[in-house]
Amino acid sequence: MPHSIGDLPSALENFDQIARRLDGRRLAVFLDFDGTLAPIAERPEKARLAPAMRAAVADLAAVHNTAIISGRGREDVRTLVGLDALTYAGDHGFDISFPDGGIAHNIDCEPFHAVIGDITERLEKDLAAISGAFAEPKWASVAVHYRQTPAAETAAVETAVKAVIADFDGLRLTPGKMVYEIQPDFDWNKGKAVQWLLEKTGLSGPGVVPVYIGDDVTDEDAFAAIAGSGIGIFVDDQENSGPDRTSAANYKLRNPDEVELLLRKLAAC
Ligand SMILES: [Mg+2]
Repeated sequence: MPHSIGDLPSALENFDQIARRLDGRRLAVFLDFDGTLAPIAERPEKARLAPAMRAAVADLAAVHNTAIISGRGREDVRTLVGLDALTYAGDHGFDISFPDGGIAHNIDCEPFHAVIGDITERLEKDLAAISGAFAEPKWASVAVHYRQTPAAETAAVETAVKAVIADFDGLRLTPGKMVYEIQPDFDWNKGKAVQWLLEKTGLSGPGVVPVYIGDDVTDEDAFAAIAGSGIGIFVDDQENSGPDRTSAANYKLRNPDEVELLLRKLAAC
């Protein structure tokens, strides 16, 4: 059941509870990237993973199954993380790669690929007059970023995005932190990707505890997917966690620095 974010206990202060849940079980760790492993940057291409965080993820992946689940394109997030021995689910799980080089596409995105150029071109035209807003075509989505757009102009961004959704068939809108994702309209998301990965890698049984750490609305699908069997940890930078915001996560952390401390503790379990 979703809880008010203000009521979520700290995963660090209550790590003894978490350690008891994990005792004698295997872990399957899923990590979002932006806002979780790395601070959110003004523009997506400016995000960087701190060397200490990269080392913490590598140490964790050496002892527990570890996957990165990001809204970024798969190759983009793989380059930013810079570690080979991980599973990467890019584009909110539409595009997955395994450490052995295998690729999984669970949804047929061919119809979307046929129109992605047209969608991007239309957005570039419609966003041209709005400062700071730009379209980023990915494998299975087009992201419209507006972090640097003045508040008075953000409604125009939403209008442009919704016009595209209305004018092209088979699209849906997925909002995130200062970004709109235009995706193929399939029942697939980070939560479905986590469930699929657990089953695919033989980690769906009672002897495994999934742990998911993320900071955005799209991570809620994953928190809900592992509710009951796993541990969800919400990274609350206060950007979109107003008084009414609820989460299906069990615990919270405040920022990537706290995430790094938690990863080190998990690696020692
Ligand atoms: Mg994030």
